[in-house]
Amino acid sequence: MHRRDFLKGAGSASLAGAAVLAPQLAQAADTPVVKWRLASSFPKSLDTIYGAAEILSKRVAALTNGKFEIRVFAGGELVPGLQVLDAVQNGTVECGHSASYYYVGKNMAFAFDCAMPFGLTARQQNAWMVAGGGLELMREFFKGYNIVQFPGGNTGTQMGGWFRHEIKSLADLKGLKMRIPGLGGKIMARLGAVPQTLPGGDIYPALERGALDAAEWVGPYDDEKLGFYKIAKHYYYPGWWEGGPQLSFMVNQQKWTALPEQYRQAFEVAAIEANAAMLAQYDAKNPPAMMRLVQQGVKLHAFPKDVMLAARRTAFELFDEEAAKNPAFKKIYIEWKRFRDSEIQWFKVAEAPYANFLYYVK
Ligand code: CA
Repeated sequence: MHRRDFLKGAGSASLAGAAVLAPQLAQAADTPVVKWRLASSFPKSLDTIYGAAEILSKRVAALTNGKFEIRVFAGGELVPGLQVLDAVQNGTVECGHSASYYYVGKNMAFAFDCAMPFGLTARQQNAWMVAGGGLELMREFFKGYNIVQFPGGNTGTQMGGWFRHEIKSLADLKGLKMRIPGLGGKIMARLGAVPQTLPGGDIYPALERGALDAAEWVGPYDDEKLGFYKIAKHYYYPGWWEGGPQLSFMVNQQKWTALPEQYRQAFEVAAIEANAAMLAQYDAKNPPAMMRLVQQGVKLHAFPKDVMLAARRTAFELFDEEAAKNPAFKKIYIEWKRFRDSEIQWFKVAEAPYANFLYYVK
Protein backbone atom coordinates (compact mmCIF):
# COMPACT_ATOMS: atom_id res chain seq x y z
CA MET A 1 0.00 0.00 0.00
CA HIS A 2 1.32 3.43 -0.91
CA ARG A 3 1.65 5.83 1.91
CA ARG A 4 -0.73 8.22 0.19
CA ASP A 5 -3.41 5.48 -0.07
CA PHE A 6 -2.89 4.59 3.56
CA LEU A 7 -3.40 8.18 4.60
CA LYS A 8 -6.46 8.47 2.40
CA GLY A 9 -7.90 5.31 3.91
CA ALA A 10 -7.17 6.44 7.45
CA GLY A 11 -8.66 9.81 6.65
CA SER A 12 -11.93 8.42 5.36
CA ALA A 13 -12.16 5.96 8.26
CA SER A 14 -11.80 8.72 10.81
CA LEU A 15 -14.25 10.91 8.90
CA ALA A 16 -16.77 8.09 8.97
CA GLY A 17 -16.08 7.67 12.67
CA ALA A 18 -16.57 11.36 13.26
CA ALA A 19 -19.90 11.25 11.43
CA VAL A 20 -21.14 8.49 13.76
CA LEU A 21 -19.92 10.26 16.89
CA ALA A 22 -21.00 13.72 15.91
CA PRO A 23 -24.61 13.63 17.10
CA GLN A 24 -23.61 12.33 20.54
CA LEU A 25 -20.84 14.87 20.90
CA ALA A 26 -23.13 17.66 19.83
CA GLN A 27 -25.76 16.57 22.33
CA ALA A 28 -23.22 16.34 25.13
CA ALA A 29 -21.99 19.84 24.30
CA ASP A 30 -25.54 21.24 24.24
CA THR A 31 -26.53 19.62 27.50
CA PRO A 32 -23.93 20.28 30.15
CA VAL A 33 -24.34 18.98 33.69
CA VAL A 34 -25.99 21.77 35.68
CA LYS A 35 -26.44 21.54 39.45
CA TRP A 36 -28.73 23.96 41.19
CA ARG A 37 -29.83 24.37 44.75
CA LEU A 38 -33.44 25.26 45.53
CA ALA A 39 -34.16 26.89 48.89
CA SER A 40 -37.72 26.20 49.98
CA SER A 41 -39.42 28.43 52.55
CA PHE A 42 -41.29 25.43 53.88
CA PRO A 43 -40.73 22.50 56.24
CA LYS A 44 -40.95 18.94 54.94
CA SER A 45 -43.97 18.40 57.22
CA LEU A 46 -45.98 20.59 54.82
CA ASP A 47 -45.72 17.76 52.31
CA THR A 48 -48.13 19.28 49.77
CA ILE A 49 -46.38 22.65 49.65
CA TYR A 50 -42.80 21.45 50.15
CA GLY A 51 -43.53 18.55 47.77
CA ALA A 52 -44.11 20.92 44.82
CA ALA A 53 -40.37 21.62 44.68
CA GLU A 54 -39.67 17.90 44.63
CA ILE A 55 -42.09 17.43 41.73
CA LEU A 56 -40.23 20.18 39.88
CA SER A 57 -36.84 18.65 40.62
CA LYS A 58 -37.85 15.12 39.58
CA ARG A 59 -39.48 16.22 36.33
CA VAL A 60 -36.58 18.47 35.35
CA ALA A 61 -34.14 15.59 35.92
CA ALA A 62 -36.31 13.19 33.90
CA LEU A 63 -36.56 15.64 30.98
CA THR A 64 -32.81 16.25 30.83
CA ASN A 65 -31.47 12.70 31.30
CA GLY A 66 -30.52 13.65 34.83
CA LYS A 67 -28.14 16.35 33.64
CA PHE A 68 -30.01 19.29 35.14
CA GLU A 69 -30.10 18.51 38.83
CA ILE A 70 -32.07 20.68 41.25
CA ARG A 71 -31.48 19.75 44.87
CA VAL A 72 -34.27 20.83 47.21
CA PHE A 73 -33.53 22.14 50.71
CA ALA A 74 -36.24 22.68 53.33
CA GLY A 75 -36.76 26.06 55.02
CA GLY A 76 -33.84 26.85 57.31
CA GLU A 77 -31.43 24.31 55.82
CA LEU A 78 -29.64 26.83 53.60
CA VAL A 79 -31.39 30.08 54.45
CA PRO A 80 -34.22 31.02 56.81
CA GLY A 81 -37.64 30.38 55.27
CA LEU A 82 -38.50 34.07 55.11
CA GLN A 83 -35.26 35.04 53.33
CA VAL A 84 -35.57 32.85 50.25
CA LEU A 85 -36.23 35.82 47.97
CA ASP A 86 -33.07 37.58 49.17
CA ALA A 87 -30.98 34.42 48.67
CA VAL A 88 -32.23 34.07 45.08
CA GLN A 89 -31.85 37.77 44.38
CA ASN A 90 -28.16 37.84 45.40
CA GLY A 91 -27.35 34.44 43.90
CA THR A 92 -26.65 32.59 47.18
CA VAL A 93 -28.91 29.92 45.64
CA GLU A 94 -29.95 29.59 42.01
CA CYS A 95 -33.65 29.23 42.81
CA GLY A 96 -36.25 29.04 45.55
CA HIS A 97 -39.83 28.14 46.36
CA SER A 98 -41.67 30.62 48.50
CA ALA A 99 -44.82 32.65 49.09
CA SER A 100 -44.35 36.11 47.60
CA TYR A 101 -46.50 37.79 50.27
CA TYR A 102 -43.77 37.02 52.82
CA TYR A 103 -42.00 39.99 51.26
CA VAL A 104 -44.72 42.67 51.54
CA GLY A 105 -42.36 44.46 53.97
CA LYS A 106 -40.16 45.25 50.94
CA ASN A 107 -43.11 46.22 48.76
CA MET A 108 -46.80 45.45 49.22
CA ALA A 109 -47.00 44.65 45.49
CA PHE A 110 -45.46 41.24 46.23
CA ALA A 111 -48.87 40.17 47.52
CA PHE A 112 -50.33 40.15 43.99
CA ASP A 113 -48.05 37.21 43.22
CA CYS A 114 -49.58 35.22 46.09
CA ALA A 115 -52.79 36.44 47.72
CA MET A 116 -54.60 39.70 48.36
CA PRO A 117 -57.33 39.71 51.01
CA PHE A 118 -60.71 39.37 49.27
CA GLY A 119 -58.75 38.68 46.11
CA LEU A 120 -58.77 35.98 43.50
CA THR A 121 -59.66 32.33 44.03
CA ALA A 122 -57.16 29.67 42.93
CA ARG A 123 -58.94 29.35 39.57
CA GLN A 124 -58.94 33.10 39.05
CA GLN A 125 -55.34 33.57 40.16
CA ASN A 126 -54.29 30.93 37.67
CA ALA A 127 -56.36 32.59 34.95
CA TRP A 128 -54.77 35.96 35.71
CA MET A 129 -51.26 34.49 35.65
CA VAL A 130 -51.56 32.21 32.64
CA ALA A 131 -53.98 34.09 30.40
CA GLY A 132 -54.85 37.44 31.99
CA GLY A 133 -51.59 39.39 31.85
CA GLY A 134 -50.70 38.82 35.51
CA LEU A 135 -47.49 36.92 34.89
CA GLU A 136 -46.14 39.64 32.59
CA LEU A 137 -46.94 42.36 35.14
CA MET A 138 -45.40 40.41 37.99
CA ARG A 139 -42.31 39.49 35.96
CA GLU A 140 -41.72 43.16 35.25
CA PHE A 141 -41.98 43.87 38.99
CA PHE A 142 -39.70 40.95 39.95
CA LYS A 143 -37.07 42.19 37.48
CA GLY A 144 -36.31 44.90 40.03
CA TYR A 145 -35.28 42.08 42.36
CA ASN A 146 -33.16 40.24 39.76
CA ILE A 147 -35.63 37.35 39.73
CA VAL A 148 -37.78 35.47 37.17
CA GLN A 149 -40.73 33.84 38.92
CA PHE A 150 -43.18 31.07 38.03
CA PRO A 151 -46.50 30.07 39.61
CA GLY A 152 -45.62 27.13 41.83
CA GLY A 153 -48.78 25.79 43.44
CA ASN A 154 -51.91 26.94 45.21
CA THR A 155 -53.63 25.77 48.40
CA GLY A 156 -57.13 26.79 47.34
CA THR A 157 -59.24 28.89 49.73
CA GLN A 158 -57.79 28.55 53.19
CA MET A 159 -59.63 28.24 56.48
CA GLY A 160 -60.02 31.24 58.79
CA GLY A 161 -58.35 29.49 61.70
CA TRP A 162 -58.83 28.10 65.18
CA PHE A 163 -60.49 30.10 67.93
CA ARG A 164 -60.66 29.20 71.61
CA HIS A 165 -64.00 30.99 71.89
CA GLU A 166 -66.79 31.69 69.43
CA ILE A 167 -66.75 34.91 67.42
CA LYS A 168 -70.34 36.13 67.41
CA SER A 169 -69.78 39.61 66.02
CA LEU A 170 -67.13 42.17 65.13
CA ALA A 171 -66.94 43.22 68.81
CA ASP A 172 -65.46 39.82 69.71
CA LEU A 173 -62.31 40.65 67.71
CA LYS A 174 -61.37 43.45 70.15
CA GLY A 175 -58.10 42.54 71.85
CA LEU A 176 -58.08 39.04 70.34
CA LYS A 177 -54.52 37.74 70.12
CA MET A 178 -54.37 35.92 66.83
CA ARG A 179 -51.55 34.38 64.85
CA ILE A 180 -52.18 35.88 61.44
CA PRO A 181 -49.28 37.28 59.39
CA GLY A 182 -49.17 39.64 56.41
CA LEU A 183 -51.96 41.79 55.05
CA GLY A 184 -54.60 39.70 56.85
CA GLY A 185 -52.89 40.68 60.09
CA LYS A 186 -52.86 44.38 59.13
CA ILE A 187 -56.61 44.25 58.50
CA MET A 188 -57.28 42.33 61.71
CA ALA A 189 -55.34 45.02 63.60
CA ARG A 190 -57.59 47.72 62.13
CA LEU A 191 -60.57 45.66 63.28
CA GLY A 192 -59.26 45.67 66.84
CA ALA A 193 -57.42 42.34 67.05
CA VAL A 194 -53.77 41.94 68.05
CA PRO A 195 -52.09 40.04 65.21
CA GLN A 196 -48.97 37.95 65.85
CA THR A 197 -46.51 36.43 63.39
CA LEU A 198 -45.28 33.03 64.52
CA PRO A 199 -43.78 30.18 62.49
CA GLY A 200 -45.84 26.98 62.29
CA GLY A 201 -43.99 25.07 64.99
CA ASP A 202 -44.52 27.79 67.61
CA ILE A 203 -48.29 28.11 67.22
CA TYR A 204 -49.42 25.08 69.21
CA PRO A 205 -47.46 25.87 72.39
CA ALA A 206 -48.57 29.53 72.24
CA LEU A 207 -52.22 28.45 71.96
CA GLU A 208 -51.74 25.93 74.74
CA ARG A 209 -50.34 28.41 77.26
CA GLY A 210 -52.93 31.05 76.34
CA ALA A 211 -50.49 33.47 74.63
CA LEU A 212 -52.81 33.18 71.62
CA ASP A 213 -56.61 33.21 71.49
CA ALA A 214 -56.70 32.14 67.86
CA ALA A 215 -54.43 31.03 65.04
CA GLU A 216 -54.72 30.56 61.31
CA TRP A 217 -52.52 28.19 59.34
CA VAL A 218 -53.71 26.58 56.09
CA GLY A 219 -56.68 24.20 55.99
CA PRO A 220 -57.88 20.86 57.38
CA TYR A 221 -55.12 18.67 55.95
CA ASP A 222 -52.21 20.78 57.23
CA ASP A 223 -53.91 22.07 60.39
CA GLU A 224 -54.79 18.56 61.58
CA LYS A 225 -51.09 17.63 61.65
CA LEU A 226 -50.30 20.51 64.02
CA GLY A 227 -53.07 19.45 66.42
CA PHE A 228 -54.75 22.84 66.99
CA TYR A 229 -58.14 21.10 67.41
CA LYS A 230 -56.99 19.74 70.78
CA ILE A 231 -57.00 23.27 72.23
CA ALA A 232 -59.21 25.53 70.10
CA LYS A 233 -62.38 23.77 68.96
CA HIS A 234 -63.94 26.55 66.91
CA TYR A 235 -62.78 26.33 63.31
CA TYR A 236 -63.78 29.33 61.19
CA TYR A 237 -64.15 29.87 57.47
CA PRO A 238 -63.36 31.27 55.01
CA GLY A 239 -59.77 32.56 55.26
CA TRP A 240 -60.73 35.79 53.46
CA TRP A 241 -57.08 36.90 53.46
CA GLU A 242 -56.13 33.84 51.42
CA GLY A 243 -58.85 33.06 48.90
CA GLY A 244 -56.42 31.32 46.55
CA PRO A 245 -52.82 31.87 47.63
CA GLN A 246 -50.23 31.03 45.02
CA LEU A 247 -46.76 29.78 45.82
CA SER A 248 -43.93 30.76 43.46
CA PHE A 249 -40.70 29.38 42.11
CA MET A 250 -38.12 32.14 42.00
CA VAL A 251 -35.03 31.94 39.79
CA ASN A 252 -32.00 34.23 39.80
CA GLN A 253 -32.07 36.24 36.55
CA GLN A 254 -28.41 35.58 35.54
CA LYS A 255 -28.70 31.85 36.30
CA TRP A 256 -31.87 31.68 34.21
CA THR A 257 -30.28 33.47 31.26
CA ALA A 258 -27.22 31.19 31.39
CA LEU A 259 -29.35 28.04 31.25
CA PRO A 260 -29.48 26.11 27.92
CA GLU A 261 -32.82 26.59 26.15
CA GLN A 262 -33.77 22.91 26.61
CA TYR A 263 -33.30 23.22 30.37
CA ARG A 264 -35.36 26.39 30.50
CA GLN A 265 -38.16 24.51 28.72
CA ALA A 266 -37.83 21.61 31.16
CA PHE A 267 -38.00 23.98 34.14
CA GLU A 268 -41.00 25.79 32.76
CA VAL A 269 -43.04 22.67 32.05
CA ALA A 270 -42.09 21.09 35.39
CA ALA A 271 -43.23 24.26 37.19
CA ILE A 272 -46.59 24.03 35.43
CA GLU A 273 -46.94 20.44 36.62
CA ALA A 274 -46.03 21.34 40.20
CA ASN A 275 -48.46 24.27 40.09
CA ALA A 276 -51.38 22.03 39.08
CA ALA A 277 -50.43 19.13 41.36
CA MET A 278 -50.51 21.13 44.59
CA LEU A 279 -54.09 22.31 44.20
CA ALA A 280 -55.17 18.78 43.23
CA GLN A 281 -53.49 17.40 46.35
CA TYR A 282 -55.26 19.89 48.61
CA ASP A 283 -58.63 19.38 46.99
CA ALA A 284 -58.29 15.62 47.45
CA LYS A 285 -56.81 15.64 50.98
CA ASN A 286 -58.82 18.40 52.69
CA PRO A 287 -62.27 16.75 52.66
CA PRO A 288 -61.34 13.56 54.57
CA ALA A 289 -59.20 15.64 56.98
CA MET A 290 -62.17 17.94 57.63
CA MET A 291 -64.40 14.91 58.39
CA ARG A 292 -61.82 13.53 60.82
CA LEU A 293 -61.64 16.89 62.60
CA VAL A 294 -65.43 17.07 62.92
CA GLN A 295 -65.36 13.56 64.43
CA GLN A 296 -62.89 14.93 67.00
CA GLY A 297 -65.52 17.44 68.13
CA VAL A 298 -64.39 20.41 66.05
CA LYS A 299 -67.15 22.98 65.44
CA LEU A 300 -67.18 24.57 61.98
CA HIS A 301 -68.43 28.16 61.82
CA ALA A 302 -68.73 30.83 59.16
CA PHE A 303 -67.35 34.23 60.18
CA PRO A 304 -70.26 36.52 61.11
CA LYS A 305 -71.41 38.76 58.27
CA ASP A 306 -70.43 42.00 60.07
CA VAL A 307 -66.87 40.68 60.39
CA MET A 308 -66.73 39.80 56.69
CA LEU A 309 -68.16 43.16 55.58
CA ALA A 310 -65.90 45.21 57.85
CA ALA A 311 -62.85 43.20 56.79
CA ARG A 312 -63.58 43.69 53.09
CA ARG A 313 -64.16 47.43 53.51
CA THR A 314 -60.93 47.73 55.51
CA ALA A 315 -58.99 45.68 52.93
CA PHE A 316 -59.90 47.99 50.07
CA GLU A 317 -59.19 51.08 52.21
CA LEU A 318 -55.72 49.62 52.80
CA PHE A 319 -55.19 48.93 49.07
CA ASP A 320 -56.34 52.43 48.08
CA GLU A 321 -54.03 54.03 50.65
CA GLU A 322 -51.11 51.96 49.33
CA ALA A 323 -51.92 52.79 45.69
CA ALA A 324 -51.80 56.50 46.57
CA LYS A 325 -48.20 56.26 47.77
CA ASN A 326 -46.70 53.25 45.93
CA PRO A 327 -46.54 53.54 42.09
CA ALA A 328 -45.46 49.89 41.59
CA PHE A 329 -48.42 48.73 43.66
CA LYS A 330 -50.81 51.11 41.88
CA LYS A 331 -49.79 49.93 38.41
CA ILE A 332 -50.51 46.28 39.20
CA TYR A 333 -53.52 47.04 41.41
CA ILE A 334 -55.42 48.77 38.59
CA GLU A 335 -54.99 45.77 36.26
CA TRP A 336 -55.56 43.21 39.02
CA LYS A 337 -58.78 44.88 40.17
CA ARG A 338 -60.13 45.15 36.65
CA PHE A 339 -59.45 41.44 36.15
CA ARG A 340 -60.96 40.54 39.54
CA ASP A 341 -64.15 42.49 38.83
CA SER A 342 -64.56 40.86 35.45
CA GLU A 343 -63.99 37.36 36.90
CA ILE A 344 -66.66 38.06 39.52
CA GLN A 345 -69.17 39.02 36.79
CA TRP A 346 -68.61 35.68 35.09
CA PHE A 347 -68.31 33.43 38.14
CA LYS A 348 -71.53 34.73 39.66
CA VAL A 349 -73.43 33.81 36.48
CA ALA A 350 -72.25 30.22 35.98
CA GLU A 351 -69.86 28.91 38.62
CA ALA A 352 -71.44 30.21 41.81
CA PRO A 353 -75.08 29.21 41.05
CA TYR A 354 -73.92 25.76 39.99
CA ALA A 355 -71.84 25.37 43.15
CA ASN A 356 -74.60 26.75 45.36
CA PHE A 357 -77.17 24.37 43.94
CA LEU A 358 -74.84 21.40 44.22
CA TYR A 359 -73.72 22.14 47.76
CA TYR A 360 -76.82 23.49 49.46
CA VAL A 361 -80.04 22.49 47.72
CA LYS A 362 -81.41 19.17 48.93
CA1 CA B 1 -52.78 30.88 56.07
